[in-house]
Amino acid sequence: MAHGDTTDAAARLRELHEHFREYQATGPQQRHATTVSASAPMRLDILDHITASVREVAEHTRAVNPDAGPLPERVQDAYAWMHENLADADEADQLRADAIEYRQWLEHCLEARDTETVRKEVRKQACPKCGCWGLMWVRETRRAWCTNTECVDKDGFSTSLSLGRLAHARAVARQKIRQARAT
Ligand SMILES: [Zn+2]
Repeated sequence: MAHGDTTDAAARLRELHEHFREYQATGPQQRHATTVSASAPMRLDILDHITASVREVAEHTRAVNPDAGPLPERVQDAYAWMHENLADADEADQLRADAIEYRQWLEHCLEARDTETVRKEVRKQACPKCGCWGLMWVRETRRAWCTNTECVDKDGFSTSLSLGRLAHARAVARQKIRQARAT
């Protein structure tokens, strides 16, 4: 179960990394091409994104398990490394790892301009506030919005969730399923 998610986030991170390395390799030859000025900032953006993602995984892992060894060489192996090192961690830390990985997967998709995958994932989840299945991804806001007209705050504004909150809600739901199976 957890393994499938690992593969998704890891595969996406690997793709982004390869994309960046390809640019590094071919960048100088393309310097005269008209597209390079438009694409160069985006590639640096990808490097920042990869670095921040791996750093977050490393920070969480080391905070829970100070004996965790060095990060693996390939960026996409960071998730497997996290799970290995958190194998004996308590439920709350495992839940946090689960949420980080899932949120990062969606962030990798957005970084690769794949909004469709994020849209589909958001639709698969119930609104954590009202429990309905009416969540909708709004790209411009980078948030999932609940379409239930009753699901509003005290000022009448619709409920919306960041990817972080969505990932946390999903991790909690998955934990409940695991606990129900275990008893
Ligand atoms: Zn709702």
